[in-house]
Amino acid sequence: MNASMTLQDIQPLSIPGVEGTTPIVIAGPCSAETEKQTLDTARELCALGVKVFRAGIWKPRTMPGGFEGVGDRGLAWLQAVKRETSMAVATEVATVEHVRATLGAGIDVLWIGARTSANPFAMQDIADALQGHEEVTVLVKNPVNPDLDLWLGALLRIHHAGITRLGAVHRGFSSAGDHIYRNDPQWHIPFELRRLAPLMTILCDPSHIGGKRKYVEPLSQIALDTGFDGLMIECHCDPDKALSDSAQQVTPAELGKILGHLVVRSGLPVDDELVLLRQQIDDCDHELLAVLARRMSVSREIGRFKKANNLRVVQPQRYQEMISARLNEGDSLGLDSDFTQRVMQAIHEESVRQQLKLFND
Ligand code: PEP
Ligand code: MN
Repeated sequence: MNASMTLQDIQPLSIPGVEGTTPIVIAGPCSAETEKQTLDTARELCALGVKVFRAGIWKPRTMPGGFEGVGDRGLAWLQAVKRETSMAVATEVATVEHVRATLGAGIDVLWIGARTSANPFAMQDIADALQGHEEVTVLVKNPVNPDLDLWLGALLRIHHAGITRLGAVHRGFSSAGDHIYRNDPQWHIPFELRRLAPLMTILCDPSHIGGKRKYVEPLSQIALDTGFDGLMIECHCDPDKALSDSAQQVTPAELGKILGHLVVRSGLPVDDELVLLRQQIDDCDHELLAVLARRMSVSREIGRFKKANNLRVVQPQRYQEMISARLNEGDSLGLDSDFTQRVMQAIHEESVRQQLKLFND
């Protein structure tokens, strides 16, 4: 295959039987747990009009001892779903053995998970195992870390293996600290992917981004509003009893309601541009607030140290040095100096307030 093929060559996805459907909806449980749970969920999703069924059978878990999937025997359950409902079926592959087993079982869509797409050796092994299997559809989730190049590299390895039915799935990025979502969306990264691969199908996985079922609908709407081509949503016939990702799975009935509420808007360039810019503003504010919270927690740590060592809360020399350093830094970043001063003063004032509170405790 031509190694110089670029992302711009990647054409919109057409999953056999699902051609031209917008938005594409892939739904199903995080994990296939039993044959009954798999088939019960699939039947309900089929009745909703869902055309692609997902279920993980090999589950990459961060810690040992969790539910690691039912393994190969789940393939027969996916085959049963396909036979009975005519939905296309999708599962996650992480190794060459998984690729061989899924290809042998006639699974239509293979997705590569975030922990695997972060590993170029694993990606190359998978790409090599896919050579000559142009019939299969491959979706590459973003790597766990927010590194666009790593995601692009993973996509290109599959593309260079001759896979033309290729798409990407945005599932957010792992991040330390407390955030409202399980994964940080960092929307600018899939937006940049869209710029580099304008025709490639890019789906959004609101379930793994949000981590809670209440976020599935608002995140799905953001995804549709920002030009994603479809959604991968975790859906379980009895989510509270799910063996993995219980909190983020919705029932098929709930999915039906979500899909009914979603507004599919026109893709007029002017509208899209405005939505993208506002999304970037939201992202910035989200980051700003997280940084402010972190700064206040460091301030409190310093406050405890000052209290233990009988030091004053306000140290004028340090304050003077800090303000003038920040003004210079703000200047070189093109920020108005009055604005920088007001922001830094407000932050410092809140730091002092937090430390005084500790002193008075
Ligand atoms: C999944 O889709 O169930 C999964 C494990 O996803 P991710 O690789 O995005 O964590
Ligand atoms: Mn999951």
